[in-house]
Amino acid sequence: MTSPTTIADRAGVAHRMTRKTSRLGEPKSRFGTLKPRLEAADFRTVKPPPKRADPELLTPEHRAWRATVLKNAGYRCETCGVKPPMLIADHVIERRDGGARYDPLNGKAACPSCHSLKTAQERAKRLAARPSPSSA
Ligand SMILES: [Zn+2]
Repeated sequence: MTSPTTIADRAGVAHRMTRKTSRLGEPKSRFGTLKPRLEAADFRTVKPPPKRADPELLTPEHRAWRATVLKNAGYRCETCGVKPPMLIADHVIERRDGGARYDPLNGKAACPSCHSLKTAQERAKRLAARPSPSSA
């Protein structure tokens, strides 16, 4: 059941509100929102460069490797076992550490959480292996 209602906001602008009742009988409201009149201010003095995908990740070879890795893992995260809406094909030995790029044995399906954790751990290892600037 739908009963359209018109209500006004604090500025007196009318909004249409549709009230629906869910299958369980509790009232469910849908309140259409308008685009904000002002853009959010951006006070950053240095802006990050636009995000661009690594061109290598767009190659057919990489896509085929990714598809194989995810299929072999049964589309589940190989670390925690969840089946998330988005899976990442991760290089077990990272490309920058000399890992084979297109070897399915160097691939592991990871959910975004497990992938972030692994990437952070690898980065920490790399930083720890680097000589500190004070000892130079
Ligand atoms: Zn996971």
